[in-house]
Amino acid sequence: MNLPFDPNAAALPRGHFIGGAYIEAEHILPLTRPSDGQPLGAIPVADAEMVDRAVAVAAKAQRDSGWGACQPRDRTRAMHAWADLIEAHAAELSWLESVASTRLISQIPGIDIAVTAEQIRFFAELADKEGGALVPTRDDQLGMIMDEPYGVVGAITPWNFPISMAGWKLGPALAAGNAVVLKPSEMTPFATLRMAELSVQAGIPAGLVNVVLGDGLVTGTALTGHPGIGKVSFTGSTLAGAAIMQNIARSGIKPMTLELGGKSPQVVFADADLDLAARCIAGSIMFNAGQACVAGSRVIAHASVAEALSEKLVALMQPRNPGPSWLEGSGYSPAISARQLGRVDEIVQAAIRDGAEVVCGAASMDRPGFFYQPTLLRGVDQKNPAVTEEIFGPVLTLQSFTDDDEALALADHPTYGLAAGVYTRDLSRAIRVTRALQAGTVWVNRYGRSRDHILPTGGYKSSGLGKDLGREAYHANRRSKSVLIDL
Ligand code: NAD
Repeated sequence: MNLPFDPNAAALPRGHFIGGAYIEAEHILPLTRPSDGQPLGAIPVADAEMVDRAVAVAAKAQRDSGWGACQPRDRTRAMHAWADLIEAHAAELSWLESVASTRLISQIPGIDIAVTAEQIRFFAELADKEGGALVPTRDDQLGMIMDEPYGVVGAITPWNFPISMAGWKLGPALAAGNAVVLKPSEMTPFATLRMAELSVQAGIPAGLVNVVLGDGLVTGTALTGHPGIGKVSFTGSTLAGAAIMQNIARSGIKPMTLELGGKSPQVVFADADLDLAARCIAGSIMFNAGQACVAGSRVIAHASVAEALSEKLVALMQPRNPGPSWLEGSGYSPAISARQLGRVDEIVQAAIRDGAEVVCGAASMDRPGFFYQPTLLRGVDQKNPAVTEEIFGPVLTLQSFTDDDEALALADHPTYGLAAGVYTRDLSRAIRVTRALQAGTVWVNRYGRSRDHILPTGGYKSSGLGKDLGREAYHANRRSKSVLIDL
């Protein structure tokens, strides 16, 4: 694939995408390229009126096109065509993604796009396999659970994996027969707009996929509070998730799926394969410069191996070619914004003031863009801000334990419970510890999602509500109706 391109000459989609067409509006929100801090145009902010227009278009399209009422295989077919088109436009989508976000162009086609296309096909295939049920009743009655689409799903995505997050939301919602109004992050809207355009080209009726641009406060609030939205599907911070819950409580109850923040532990036992553990841990915190919800940012190692693990981690936490995300040779991502870079450093410096010992990193990189050095901190207790806060940057803490109970106590976070890693050669211990961990996902002797899209993802505690991926995500986009017939 020929990926090199000139970021200054990139033709960026302009406007909201509603009913299969771009709607121009005044571009008022400025964007910045995280890789070099240069300006990247501006986007409009959809106000309540524009959101209302998108929801009305979506509802009409969902009704008139028969998308929710057709033979489900028709949805499957159109979604397969969409996945094919997304792959066929991998180069263009990669440009749009890399110029605005922190995703490296060397990774986007093989990871973000390939996985997203695969997940869209996965959900497309569920459309004619998952459904309602006949239930046991008296013989002179017929009891059924019918399931139906909501109509219009309101989706909101974050900036850290814009293509993938759009896929997580659109795939199950469309397969389940809904139309969608999606608000991508105000910092990374372009690839999502192009994906929406491709959906129409693939034969998904215009108006089924709509994208409104804007910030959380104006556009996001209007979307989650809109009475025409049947269900809200959100991925982002726990703070924004809480604000959405409040808005929904105020504006009219509706179901919601919330995929929120995390502060995930990786527990390394004395019998672990240390090289494997170090590779997984370093990989998980270096990938997208730690800007992943499941980043395993708290390492909890048995005292007998903590020193050796620390040395291995330092050796692996050397960033390879930090550079503009649109250059194929770049191997390490920037933070998304100057603000995010500042926040990462603020927490690291506060952690140091609270007694953290710096093993490596702990400073911004002296280069254009918003790059932070991969950082390893030791000597931290459970109250240290580097242990309590979701930093969303390339920052690891290392704590040690002497028995399994202590490991579990350290692993438990008072608010977050998104994911956890366990490294041991002892299967019984792996299962015991997995059962005890308060996390929605546990990886043993590996860290990170595979291409097993059947495994749902979602958080315990304040890391979320409901699941993305898996059958659960499909069912979360349908509601059930109980029917009892006296024969
Ligand atoms: P964010 O919460 O600041 O923003 C996410 C999205 O929500 C954006 O589109 C934003 O405009 C919108 N938003 C913000 N406030 C809103 C409000 N009051 N009402 C409606 N919409 C609102 O998060 P971010 O900085 O873009 O992304 C990073 C966060 O996302 C991290 O906390 C990370 O853990 C989380 N995340 C979670 C998952 C997961 O699967 N659990 C996946 C990716 C990212």
